[in-house]
Amino acid sequence: MSPHHRRPALLAALVAPVLALSACASTSGDDGKVHALASFYPLQMVLEEVGGDRVDVDSLTPPGAEPHDVELSPAQVAALDAADLVVLQSGFQPSVDDAVAQTSPEHVVDAADRADLDSAATHDDGHAEDGHSDDEHADDEHADDGHDHDGLDPHFWLDPTRLAALAGPVADALSDIDPDGAATYRANADALVDRLTALDEEYAAALASCERRVLVTSHEAFGYLADRYGLEQVGISGIDPEAEPSPARLREVGDVVRDEGVTTIFFETLASPKVAQTLAADLGVEAAVLDPIEGVTDDSQDYFSIAEANLDALRVALSCS
Ligand SMILES: [Zn+2]
Repeated sequence: MSPHHRRPALLAALVAPVLALSACASTSGDDGKVHALASFYPLQMVLEEVGGDRVDVDSLTPPGAEPHDVELSPAQVAALDAADLVVLQSGFQPSVDDAVAQTSPEHVVDAADRADLDSAATHDDGHAEDGHSDDEHADDEHADDGHDHDGLDPHFWLDPTRLAALAGPVADALSDIDPDGAATYRANADALVDRLTALDEEYAAALASCERRVLVTSHEAFGYLADRYGLEQVGISGIDPEAEPSPARLREVGDVVRDEGVTTIFFETLASPKVAQTLAADLGVEAAVLDPIEGVTDDSQDYFSIAEANLDALRVALSCS
């Protein structure tokens, strides 16, 4: 139950001075568990899976909140300072970056260092090879983004193989904090990588043979997914889900929908679906949910169940056999 607190009291007294010198061991809570914070849901999922029973995980982004523009309370900043481990993605949530800079937690895993992020423009360059003409305009929109993630597309977790790359570093960090759990963390990380690899293989097989490959989305969160499975994303609102598309952009997307025979415009649940739903109604096509898995609104859902629902929606919209 409490792996850190199995030592007899006398031994604990003898080793206490040593522990006091070790910053890593000094912040564990009274329950003997490692206390870890994730900055938003997909990182939380990795922490929970790798940490298992030995780790208590909280998220800085409340369930159901949209993570791009999360604002931290003073209590959350204090929790960051007290956490044994923080898993975050620098460049994605400015208030989290600011809080980490103020508090300097002992152990930080930065997904941005692990995920091999692409610039949003790199996704678009891939599209240009397919002969579509939306690319320059997409770049203009990214330049207008309130905080444009240094020009990088943050949504790496929608490619399961990129999310899998975080499991090992999280296991290593937890093992530094709680060496007794090292074998458990390693086994849990391996199991998570196996599940994500199987999900990737399922996506690749299901999307290998589709009548259409253009994916029209409200918020441009699916660039890594599109790259991985040979699809082409055309976003209405750009990387920032709150950005308002211009009338010119809406006309361009309408042209793509007509030219490519697109049957479905995707919207999402956390950001406002209205622009995508209105455009779909105007063009006489379907509107359907494609979830960027930035947060979970329903406790019965998790990363894997949402990824399966997304795959079902993609197969229908793209007429995959
Ligand atoms: Zn997003």
